[in-house]
Amino acid sequence: LFGEVPQATPVAVFKVTNDFKEDPNPKKVNLGVGAYRTDEGQPWVLPVVKKVEKIIVADDSLNHEYLPILGLPEFRSSASKIALGEDSPAIQENRVGAVQCLGGTGALKIGAEFLRRWYNGNNNTRTPVYVSAPTWENHNAVFVNAGFEDVRPYKYWDAEKRGLDLSGFLGDLERRKLFVFFDSAYQGFASGCLDKDAWAVRYFITQGFEMFCAQSFSKNFGLYNERVGNLTIVARDPDNLKRVLSQMEKIVRVTWSNPPSQGARLVAVTLNNPELFSEWKDNVKTMADRVLSMRASLRAKLEALETPGTWDHITQQIGMFSFTGLNPNQVEYLIKEKSIYLMASGRINMCGLTTKNIDYVAESIHESVVN
Ligand code: PLP
Repeated sequence: LFGEVPQATPVAVFKVTNDFKEDPNPKKVNLGVGAYRTDEGQPWVLPVVKKVEKIIVADDSLNHEYLPILGLPEFRSSASKIALGEDSPAIQENRVGAVQCLGGTGALKIGAEFLRRWYNGNNNTRTPVYVSAPTWENHNAVFVNAGFEDVRPYKYWDAEKRGLDLSGFLGDLERRKLFVFFDSAYQGFASGCLDKDAWAVRYFITQGFEMFCAQSFSKNFGLYNERVGNLTIVARDPDNLKRVLSQMEKIVRVTWSNPPSQGARLVAVTLNNPELFSEWKDNVKTMADRVLSMRASLRAKLEALETPGTWDHITQQIGMFSFTGLNPNQVEYLIKEKSIYLMASGRINMCGLTTKNIDYVAESIHESVVN
């Protein structure tokens, strides 16, 4: 029956992880997958999450009944608040709603399905969707899969400058009457401060935009396998919001019907308790600070080695990842000769660096560039 089914290509980032796992070299380093690691190279269960897990286990009032289709209300509202800000005018005007989703990916999926059905006319598959070049590869796939036939890149990365191509970026996007769909998968990781990292989302609201914002709690809560995400909807007015949410409910019903509870409870309990909230912010800062120190360290080591090229972009970029600017040959050299695994694009996860492996990584990058 399935004799004609072709083999699908592996998902790039998980292939990198598998190749890493199979590599017997004791010096191997994984700079691929976007997950936080401690300075010992280990996954980190946030101390606040451990604490809240105990609170949840001890709570006899909880059960395993279905959650509402749109999710746990106290999770949805508190999650939207950290994106938009406690005092957001849009929240005060009762035109913000949310859908609890299966991770950030689920939030993008539900948003994309809604837009295909209801943006620019019912079931319009020809509406162009713009994604940055480069972007997380799943952005293209999620929108194409939702039925959009025209997913286009907009200019974002200037390879020469190793930074933002601002004029290209503005040139591709300005005056196109676009609907804004933010993807906030790393809030807190860029600066260590939740509010600072949410600046762009809040700015767009002050400018009067309606929008969607997909949020992932995989990274900033370390809840990767709990699949906890939120789709925040900022609508024009409360009536509009009500109708949009009613359609979202229909989409969720045929997608996963009802969301899982554990991750959403962990996040909701944390965000709704001032002490736990502040402890979580400290935990996020711990992760962000480690990334910042690895950035500073990698740049300093490459400069000390006098590796050809400039390396200031390593500290100028923000967040969990860095586009190193290494070319495909250099990437291949690092993987094949040094067992240092990274994406073909030259992107590295800064959390894969530790005080123990950073000299090896810097020296290997140096060799890849001079060879
Ligand atoms: N958006 C971006 C840019 C990401 O990098 C990721 C995860 O890697 C996600 C969304 C999705 O995260 P989740 O694992 O919560 O689905």
